[in-house]
Amino acid sequence: MVYFVGAGPGAEDLITVRGQRYLEMADVVIYAGSLVNKALLKAVKKGCRIYNSAYMALEEVIGVMEEAEGKGLVTVRLHTGDPSIYGAVREQMDELKKRGIAFSVCPGVSSFCGAAASLQMEYTLPEVSQSIIISRAEGRTPVPERESIQKLAVHQATMILFLSSGLAGKVKEELLAGGYQAETPAAVVFKATWEEEKIVCTTVGNLPEDMEREGIDKTALIIVGNVLGEEYQKSKLYDASFTTGYRKGIQKLD
Ligand code: SAH
Repeated sequence: MVYFVGAGPGAEDLITVRGQRYLEMADVVIYAGSLVNKALLKAVKKGCRIYNSAYMALEEVIGVMEEAEGKGLVTVRLHTGDPSIYGAVREQMDELKKRGIAFSVCPGVSSFCGAAASLQMEYTLPEVSQSIIISRAEGRTPVPERESIQKLAVHQATMILFLSSGLAGKVKEELLAGGYQAETPAAVVFKATWEEEKIVCTTVGNLPEDMEREGIDKTALIIVGNVLGEEYQKSKLYDASFTTGYRKGIQKLD
């Protein structure tokens, strides 16, 4: 059996209880060495074989899983954050399906959730933005033209950019061309929830300079939008005069 497990954003105790259990059970662990906190590997049992996928091609990863499966062993494939986001997990699952190897996926806390917690913010605020656009700048991995940052920026929603911190200049130009103002607030969170976490609060206009000054060009998220500003409306859900399925609203008398 192969378990794809989300390791969480970084802090050792932000893996799920289920993910931790799978790690404790594992005979073989293949972890994404560039981003998974190695402290998580303390949970494995004695004799567990550990592989760092940073040094492996897809075929090698599948080869290790196949060999373990042949011996009836449990493999954990440990991905950073949640496996479903830029996890390169689909290609592995498809290879396992072809080979008739059973697998299961255990979700994790994505780094964008870790970043919101660190920033003590809410991505969705009434009358500011009710949508989150998760995307990335085009680098060596192509992004469909219709999903360019410029095109997505037109929505003025909350934008969260993964894998883009080495491309801050381009990100700024595309955000501006798409309609964000230079003053629109932006935040950069480097290694959210790790001990070396760094937060930079800036604007779209100052994004590249501020990131360069702080020396951030990898392992960071760029968050853009007016939800980082001061203005919003309070929720209806907790409005005293609003009736919900659980609570009758109190009529305010003038
Ligand atoms: N599956 C992961 C994302 C993997 S892609 C998740 O759900 O978070 C790798 C990119 O994720 C990095 O380039 C960076 O943009 C972002 N990232 C991963 N961990 C991060 C962290 N702790 N803090 C900030 N960004 C992080």
